[in-house]
Amino acid sequence: MFLNEEQKAIQKVAGDITKKIIAPMAKQYDETEEFPWENIKQLGKLGFMGMSVPEKYDGADMDMVSSVAALEEIAKGCASTATIVAVHNAAGILPILMFGTDAQKEKYIPSLAAGNSIGAFALTEAGAGSDAAKVATTAVQDGKEYVIHGSKCFISNGGAADTFVVFATKDRAKGVKGLAAFIIEKETPGFSIGKHESKMGIRASSTTELIFDKCRIPLENQLGKDGEGFKIAMMTLDVARIGIAALATGIAAGAYEEARNYAKVREQFGKPICVNQSIGFMLADMAIQIEAARQLTYHAAELKDANVKFGTEAAMAKTFASDMAVQVALNAIQIMGGYGYSREYPVERMMRDAKITQIYEGTNQIQRVVISREILK
Ligand SMILES: Cc1cc2nc3c(=O)[nH]c(=O)nc-3n(C[C@H](O)[C@H](O)[C@H](O)COP(=O)(O)OP(=O)(O)OC[C@H]3O[C@@H](n4cnc5c(N)ncnc54)[C@H](O)[C@@H]3O)c2cc1C
Repeated sequence: MFLNEEQKAIQKVAGDITKKIIAPMAKQYDETEEFPWENIKQLGKLGFMGMSVPEKYDGADMDMVSSVAALEEIAKGCASTATIVAVHNAAGILPILMFGTDAQKEKYIPSLAAGNSIGAFALTEAGAGSDAAKVATTAVQDGKEYVIHGSKCFISNGGAADTFVVFATKDRAKGVKGLAAFIIEKETPGFSIGKHESKMGIRASSTTELIFDKCRIPLENQLGKDGEGFKIAMMTLDVARIGIAALATGIAAGAYEEARNYAKVREQFGKPICVNQSIGFMLADMAIQIEAARQLTYHAAELKDANVKFGTEAAMAKTFASDMAVQVALNAIQIMGGYGYSREYPVERMMRDAKITQIYEGTNQIQRVVISREILK
């Protein structure tokens, strides 16, 4: 991928901080499931918590290509940290940036962009996963307030966030047309964090339930208009999927580098294992697949930067990159044999981390529904 000087500089800053502080701590965070606050603080100082936020709101004002380059670098070292950053930037900040009033942007964005507060996006519920029309959390107007009642599950950054973009229905009979979006602050009475999920991978990224027990918020906390909730969610996820594609590419690139370096020094039968064609070709295929995913991801980012339609390309990039990342991480383990399977080496963590990229921000089956709808028009 050809990056201009500014994009290359951003990529290098992200790569340097990953090598220096993020990657060395990834194993420990994975084991303890502790939220990596130190990483987030450092990334905030460098502008990575407000990547697409205009300077007016104290953001770094990066284009999407730069964000993709940065996310790939961070994910090479720690997919938990990359998930926190990706969700915060795209799903936490972007809906407010795209649909917020000036007052909402002024109130919430500068602190989010600096990394002083964390953002989250809450659509999924126990009965509404792939089928967002089944959202059962309700928003009922009572005078100058909305009363939000219900619960959400699997919310990334749940235990760490200060600002939540929450989707609730004003009229269940209307399905997705009844959905509206709201900004809910952590300290609001009636709002609490429920169960923390213990997960297979991205274990340091907090994933929780959210509980709204007749939680009252001012009317001005509605984001966008009535009936716009589904549109806000889908437009947000279109962009967020480019980030997940970058993240998956980064995990794969990290696993590939580990396996390649290992194969060059590990000797069996008197020679490095990489001189066996079966290992060398496996590495070659991994390199090809990673580059293909990277190109799809950058292509979707370039379309976004050019302000043309990019939703289908984002879905393609997310699907290809995440399927690829799982396979590449599995191959990295195979190349490293018993050592790859051991928790002493990072590739088994990378394989566990890679799996989520096929599931969140819309499963790959749902991405294929989106893509097939578009190509069969
Ligand atoms: C770690 C993690 C973090 C997450 N973060 C967030 C977050 O920040 N915010 C948020 O709102 N949500 C989040 N989610 C939720 C995530 O987006 C959902 O898990 C996902 O959309 C799938 O929903 P589900 O788990 O209910 O699966 P289901 O929708 O029940 O799907 C189960 C299976 O059926 C398949 N399936 C369903 N419908 C169809 C269909 N029409 N055609 C073909 N196959 C189908 C699915 O692909 C899947 O394989 C997160 C989930 C996890 C695990």
